[in-house]
Amino acid sequence: MTQKEFVTVINCMDGRVQESVQQWMQETHNAKYVDSITDAGPNKLILDGTEDDIKRFKKMLDVSILIHHSSLVAVVGHEGCAGNPAPEREQCTMTEKAAEIIQSWYPDVQVIALYATLEGQIKQLSE
Ligand SMILES: [Zn+2]
Repeated sequence: MTQKEFVTVINCMDGRVQESVQQWMQETHNAKYVDSITDAGPNKLILDGTEDDIKRFKKMLDVSILIHHSSLVAVVGHEGCAGNPAPEREQCTMTEKAAEIIQSWYPDVQVIALYATLEGQIKQLSE
């Protein structure tokens, strides 16, 4: 696999899921740098946030995709999320839907959905 310079994560701001997600992206997708876009429960915000929330995500995605040429974006939901307290199954459904929305904004990049546990496990939900 050729090395990717930049990949992108849209992750929760929760400190418990930063390192595991970054490391998984670097190892699984052979990435050098992981651009991090964070908020509290971003999967929920992409689905039903305000216009300003969406603008903020798009502004940062533009930098990562158009300027850093990231070709892979991962949307992350996680266990024990305070910003989006939905149970695991619902959390995963929301993350997959959020990934579809991001995909519609940026059709030329690969968008995947991930679920992170507090023990550091990362599950890929969609391709
Ligand atoms: Zn969270």
